[in-house]
Amino acid sequence: MSKLFVVPTPIGNLGDITLRSIEVLKSADLILAEDTRTSSKLLKHYDIDTPVESFHMHNEHKKLESIINKLRSDFEIALISDAGTPGISDPGFLLVRECINNEVEVECLPGPTAFVPALVSSGLPCDRFSFEGFLPVKKGRTKRLKELSTETKTMVFYESPHRILKTLNDLSNYFEVESQISVSRELTKLYEETFRGTIKESVEHFEKNKTKGEFVIVLSPK
Ligand code: SAM
Repeated sequence: MSKLFVVPTPIGNLGDITLRSIEVLKSADLILAEDTRTSSKLLKHYDIDTPVESFHMHNEHKKLESIINKLRSDFEIALISDAGTPGISDPGFLLVRECINNEVEVECLPGPTAFVPALVSSGLPCDRFSFEGFLPVKKGRTKRLKELSTETKTMVFYESPHRILKTLNDLSNYFEVESQISVSRELTKLYEETFRGTIKESVEHFEKNKTKGEFVIVLSPK
């Protein structure tokens, strides 16, 4: 039977992949990977020799039809991204929707994603939260920040190393400077660390410590 498997992959530590994800990647007829070179390291590590094709934000629209055609015959496809769960600030949504519209079965395996460990280890309320992904870089940024300034749930943002300071500064302008924040960096990697404090303190901290890596920001509204 045809099926699209959405398969989460490690966000840093190669050990963070489930046994079932490895089985699915081995038994699929085809793996769609965001960057075939990035994923080759993981696939090689687990002796996975399934054929791999690229599927990323620049070709996903173009490839949808041919992928759905493959899935019309007896074919299993595993979708992976560079890190974490496809569809979470990564390509995936379009293909999942197209499969559902074409009555192709979809199964997302549980597994790594960056926001869950960051949220849980933040120490901020995680019974209800709002996942915000990346803030818009230019157009719509101010509008989004204004909207969020009245949010009552814990907020989770993704950020890249070269914009972390700008984003923390912007947050300090739209939220009370005493609001609690947690900034996790390089989760599951060698230099993993989490800064916890007020927004104001986080700005001071990252002004002093120009750090590299990938970041998850968790912000408590009050
Ligand atoms: N699909 C991924 C997921 O499920 O989390 C997210 C992919 S998104 C393109 C990349 C962003 O995720 C980074 O800029 C960072 O905000 C966050 N991220 C990914 N890996 C991370 C890590 N090891 N530590 C901290 N943040 C990470």
